[in-house]
Amino acid sequence: MFSNCITCGAAVDKSESYCGKCHPKVNKKPLDEQAGGDHYKKYLIQPIEYCMVNKLNACQANIIKYATRYADKNGVEDLLKIKHYVDIILQLEYSINNPKEIEY
Ligand SMILES: [Zn+2]
Repeated sequence: MFSNCITCGAAVDKSESYCGKCHPKVNKKPLDEQAGGDHYKKYLIQPIEYCMVNKLNACQANIIKYATRYADKNGVEDLLKIKHYVDIILQLEYSINNPKEIEY
C-alpha cells in the first residue's frame, strides 16, 4: 500500500509520511539544530540568522546573542559579556578607552 510524501508528493509506503529525501531526520538544516542547549528554539528567528541577514559585525552579533540568551543560560556572565562588547565598540569606533569616565 502506498501514500504520498507530504512534502514532495512522491509515492511512499503507507506507514511513512515522508519519502527518503524529505524525511526531517535526513533533511535537517543547520538552523533547525542547536549545539549546547535549546534556549534559541522558542524564538521566531535565531540570533545568528538575524545577525547574518542584517550583516552585523562580530560585536553587534555577540551583543544580540548574549542579550537573547542571558535569562536562559549564563545570567550575569552573559550580561557582563554584553558590556564587554559595548566597551570594544566604544574603543574601536569612538576611541573611548575608559568608558567608566563617560557621563551620560
Ligand atoms: Zn518527498
